[in-house]
Amino acid sequence: MRTLAHLIYETAGKPDVGQVKTSGICYICNEPLNSGVAVSDRLTTKWTAQHDVANYASQWMCPACVWGLNERASHPDMERLFAMRSFSHIAAHGRWQVLSLRDKSVMRATLLQPPGGEWGMAICTSPLAAPHAVPFTPAGDWGYDWTISFGGDLVRNTGEFETLLRAVESMLTSGFSANQIKTGQYRPGVVAGSFNLWLSSESVIAPWRESALFSLAVFLASKE
Ligand SMILES: [Zn+2]
Repeated sequence: MRTLAHLIYETAGKPDVGQVKTSGICYICNEPLNSGVAVSDRLTTKWTAQHDVANYASQWMCPACVWGLNERASHPDMERLFAMRSFSHIAAHGRWQVLSLRDKSVMRATLLQPPGGEWGMAICTSPLAAPHAVPFTPAGDWGYDWTISFGGDLVRNTGEFETLLRAVESMLTSGFSANQIKTGQYRPGVVAGSFNLWLSSESVIAPWRESALFSLAVFLASKE
């Protein structure tokens, strides 16, 4: 599977990750490779993402997946080396953006107006305890039918993302807290003050409350 790691690695100019010539299939992404790094060289027994691995039988990781797991990556916009998993990433149109939690507006805009061509996005929700996501995030030319990684889980837009986001945002703008919207435990006074808006928004949200797509909408919602 082509992933965000491939897009990022290609955009970065395919840096040397210590790979040697070999042949086979990548342990992580299942793509054929003609150079790689031995799995036993990079992954210790502390490795906790085995369940995401595509090809257990392989002894090799492709350079793109190695790069995507990098704990000391570099990027022209970043002042120092950084762990890939501690930031959010968007790769599109041959460009790689490294984003922090301050850049939610960029993530929001990208999902509302998806790039053309092959692209991918991984959102890191907790930089201090982030799972590896980049090598497990699919890349695709999928318009609004996107799949991204959000806090380590894959979230697919089945078409409702914008509707959910707008409903959450109109509630926020009307004084409902993110926590009330998230839990459905509204304060009666706030509901009474904006009853019609609450009713129409809550009817959109309610069926989605336990879904990852809804969590993503709450995470990215901004007050207008
Ligand atoms: Zn790979």
